[in-house]
Amino acid sequence: MRGGTVAVVGGSIAGCAFASAAARAGADEVVVIERTGGRLADRGVGLCIHNDRAAELSAVGTLPPGIAAHRLTRRRWVVRDGGDPAGRLFWEQPFPFHSYHWGLLWQGLREATPASVVYRQGTAVTGVSWQVPDPAAAPAAGPDGQVAVTLADESVERHDLVVGADGYRSVVREALSPGSRPHYAGYVCWRGNFDARRLDGVGEDPWPSDAGMTVCWPGGSCVIYRIPGPEGTRVNWVLYAVPPQDGSLRFDDPTSFPPGALTAELADHLAGLLAREFPPYWAAVLALTAPEDTFVQPIYDLEVTRSGVGRLLLAGDAATVVRPHNTSGAAKAMQDATAFEAAWRDAASWEHLTDAYQAARGPVGRDLVALARRLGRAQVEQTPDWTAMDRHAAEAWWRGQLDGAPGIGGQAMTARP
Ligand SMILES: Cc1cc2nc3c(=O)[nH]c(=O)nc-3n(C[C@H](O)[C@H](O)[C@H](O)COP(=O)(O)OP(=O)(O)OC[C@H]3O[C@@H](n4cnc5c(N)ncnc54)[C@H](O)[C@@H]3O)c2cc1C
Repeated sequence: MRGGTVAVVGGSIAGCAFASAAARAGADEVVVIERTGGRLADRGVGLCIHNDRAAELSAVGTLPPGIAAHRLTRRRWVVRDGGDPAGRLFWEQPFPFHSYHWGLLWQGLREATPASVVYRQGTAVTGVSWQVPDPAAAPAAGPDGQVAVTLADESVERHDLVVGADGYRSVVREALSPGSRPHYAGYVCWRGNFDARRLDGVGEDPWPSDAGMTVCWPGGSCVIYRIPGPEGTRVNWVLYAVPPQDGSLRFDDPTSFPPGALTAELADHLAGLLAREFPPYWAAVLALTAPEDTFVQPIYDLEVTRSGVGRLLLAGDAATVVRPHNTSGAAKAMQDATAFEAAWRDAASWEHLTDAYQAARGPVGRDLVALARRLGRAQVEQTPDWTAMDRHAAEAWWRGQLDGAPGIGGQAMTARP
């Protein structure tokens, strides 16, 4: 199948990857509709991608060459210990990942989109006109078979196919899978990052550059690793814990507290955790982040019954929100785009394309959500007595979380037929 017009709602990791895939597969017109008007490349958080997933995505051209990445080989687990300011190291496990700066990864994907792709910023989609079809009846769509996309200025556009790459609060998902919403996991993450040169101010550095750290305490854990940045290496951290339970904050509705919007309660709670639970060295490292550069994201789980039907499909976090402990979201979003391109090349119609995409990606999304739930329970909700752990106990604990899965970081694209 060739030709047609495709609208990709959301121009982040999934959106850029899907726009390139649609253009390569032969769409006549591809338009990305991105709500954010400012510089997306300034979103500076870190993320990691498993080396095997990156190699697969590079081989098929979804992950463009030349994007800055920081090599990690091991993950160290430490717990507060009266004697050592850097805590007691109870486990070091292999960690074959590279870390990325979100903005630089996005920029690489954006620059790799073919010139024919129209990327419109500062335009929000408010609705997509689509009825979930009765399986016994023909799919309902616009009068000419297209999908109607309503924009914030109330104008309406029609496209042959609409891809929802609009993240965990997806508007497109409402049309495809009405009522399926992210479910609050019961805890949040505080996040921050800062210029790694600031580490010089906290004393002797017990932290090799290729090691990611996990600081553990009863009821939470915090990952800390270096990432590349536009002006040199940065330190990125994500701390998971239950937020203050005084009733002042509610997370049932998908939300987040961006940099500069951290409430006093959330800032004080973080300071208390660092003072009470962290080895002093790691508390001092996190305190290098200015309060205005610290932000909070509630953790959610989301899976949909269908990620593709008729002329609509869902990509990346719009289809599946996987707790970040699995370190798989970006890779999964790019794999979605790879599967979409393959399905397009084999499809005879839009409906065949979305059916094939759903068959390829639906089960993977469900597996990832389930694994990440187990990881979240073990590392935040029902933490073990880490103070009593040694390497053997930690390995057994980890195997229990995997429950037969080969590892974290997402599945190989070839893992399923
Ligand atoms: C704390 C944390 C740590 C993480 N760590 C990792 C990691 O180490 N490794 C990893 O692979 N993944 C990680 N992830 C997940 C990863 O960031 C996402 O899975 C990945 O970025 C895919 O995002 P996306 O493009 O699907 O959605 P998003 O990045 O959410 O993009 C959605 C886009 O759609 C736009 N948009 C939304 N609504 C509309 C609308 N109505 N109209 C127009 N535009 C709209 C938004 O502005 C945004 O640009 C982490 C996530 C979190 C929260």
